[in-house]
Amino acid sequence: MSLDSHKSVAATPDRAETPFRSLSPAVWRASTVLFDSIGDFTRRRERLYDGYSYGITGTPTSRELERRVAALEGAAHCVVLPSGQAALCLALMTVLRAGDHVLISDAAYGPLKSFGREWMAGWGIEVEFYPPAIESAALEALMRPATRLLCLESPGSITMEMLDIPAAVAAARRHGVTTLIDNTWASPLGLRPLALGVDISVEAASKMFGGHSDVLLGTVAVNDRGLYEKLRSAQSTLGQSVSPEDCFLVLRGLETLKVRLQAQAVAALQVAALLAAQPEVRSVLYPPLPGSPGHALWQRDFHGAGCVLTFQPRDWSEAQTEAFFGALRVFSIGASWGGVHSLAALYPASEQQSRTHPCVQSALVRLSVGLEELQALLDDLAGAFAALRACVA
Ligand SMILES: *Cc1c(COP(=O)(O)O)cnc(C)c1O
Repeated sequence: MSLDSHKSVAATPDRAETPFRSLSPAVWRASTVLFDSIGDFTRRRERLYDGYSYGITGTPTSRELERRVAALEGAAHCVVLPSGQAALCLALMTVLRAGDHVLISDAAYGPLKSFGREWMAGWGIEVEFYPPAIESAALEALMRPATRLLCLESPGSITMEMLDIPAAVAAARRHGVTTLIDNTWASPLGLRPLALGVDISVEAASKMFGGHSDVLLGTVAVNDRGLYEKLRSAQSTLGQSVSPEDCFLVLRGLETLKVRLQAQAVAALQVAALLAAQPEVRSVLYPPLPGSPGHALWQRDFHGAGCVLTFQPRDWSEAQTEAFFGALRVFSIGASWGGVHSLAALYPASEQQSRTHPCVQSALVRLSVGLEELQALLDDLAGAFAALRACVA
């Protein structure tokens, strides 16, 4: 075959006329996007927000995911990013400039706090961590003329403190402060932040949306058009593109989000009840559990529960901790959460004590409850507590 003949076997770039229909969304790959005329090409920036101009800004696959997530959030707009952490960082970089002051919950996702401390502070942004369960009047007292952004996470990562979200939003409004929430625990099925007046809702789609512990992705949803345009520009300028295959996996995950979340939340409540009945457990941190801190706020504001919960061991020795984790057969040891497989993780005492506003001084255990048989999960935990007791000698 001569080199010339390659031209005739090049892939057909346009799929629009293919007489094929599928129930699943197409995976469109592109760096290059084609234009009908040179005029269209030179005006391509006009397509940045609503159309297609270059692969980084999106293909029909990522736009379909953005449309679906926006609908779930009750939002006008959504931008997808390569991970939940990328989504949080992009939102902060979009809103904040040198000289601004940002309030971040001390129970925010750890790497977001690191981004604040190690990066934003170096860019001349003043980062302040507030107590995660702070009363709204005290939170309002922390707002100054330079405060631009209030970052919420409720329940907080690992320590699960709850905040009065509507009261915090009202306080922020009075001071012209933009609000952002990391809504990963509840997902939009459990909490609709934008309906409560929050400006920016971020989800780590790696967790419940994807649902199978095999994809990393994050989403940022907003109603304000100006804010959306800034987020899209930032996403494009910073080159934060998402693979269409990853978008496809999250689109597929969304098809079963509701049934997975409901089943996992039902199981998580049973797991929480088993934990609460153990003498070796000092406290269970799971707002849907009656008696757990923040239960009243959860009941008032949320439409459903998440599947990740934390408990505080009662003075376990290192050997007992190892016996407990070593006896687990159904729960696997690992971070991240929200998938169909149950997970267990330990957050040592030193990590709690080094917080600006510690919730506890001792270690915490976090469980993500998956879709295994509920009885198998309960038996697994009962076996781990038996192993822990046997270790006392
Ligand atoms: C996991 C997680 C993130 C980060 O998501 P990645 O996709 O892993 O970067 C952010 N917020 C919360 C609450 C999380 O649990």
